[in-house]
Amino acid sequence: MTEQTPAPVDWHVLLSALHSELSTLEDGARLWLLRQIAEIGTLQAELDALFRSAGGPATCAACVDTCCGCGRHHLTLTNLLAYLLSGEVPPAPDFSCTCPFLSEKGCRLPVTRRPYNCITFFCETLEERLDHGEREQLRRLDHQLRQAYQRVAERYPVASLRGLWIALERACGGHLLSTPDHDVLK
Ligand code: SF4
Ligand code: SF4
Repeated sequence: MTEQTPAPVDWHVLLSALHSELSTLEDGARLWLLRQIAEIGTLQAELDALFRSAGGPATCAACVDTCCGCGRHHLTLTNLLAYLLSGEVPPAPDFSCTCPFLSEKGCRLPVTRRPYNCITFFCETLEERLDHGEREQLRRLDHQLRQAYQRVAERYPVASLRGLWIALERACGGHLLSTPDHDVLK
């Protein structure tokens, strides 16, 4: 195990715990989460449109730097909740890959559920292909998206932008959807 390796997590136990906590979530809290996740999805689709207009898919596929080789910790609880609140099953992580959601065909997470760090990253080569207006749009979307993720993390600290695996280590087995007001992580 290297320093890069995430903490071992029993994926099925994690999903089961989340399902259980979501089943007891009040309607207001559930609706609030759904709104944040919808906004995140919309912003991420707009960011992906910029990425495509910069030729991202073809350039990244041919790139030797392979950004996805550094993506081990990027998934957040928010990304996972986007699946669970829609009644969908998220892809299971494969920790033998450089990023647990990477496959031979690329990222297994759809654009709207990809981690913040992945969807907002435009390397110099890609950013240089954007015109002034598009660069401004990139900054604005990045800012709005970060704020949306942070709103969720402020209410549910395990949704930290530091990534789910790191947040789980810090939660030490406590409830995943506890809020700072009635913190049951301790
Ligand atoms: S974002 Fe840039 S550095 Fe990263 S894989 Fe794509 S082309 Fe390569
Ligand atoms: S989550 Fe997807 S986009 Fe992000 S590093 Fe992993 S494979 Fe790449």
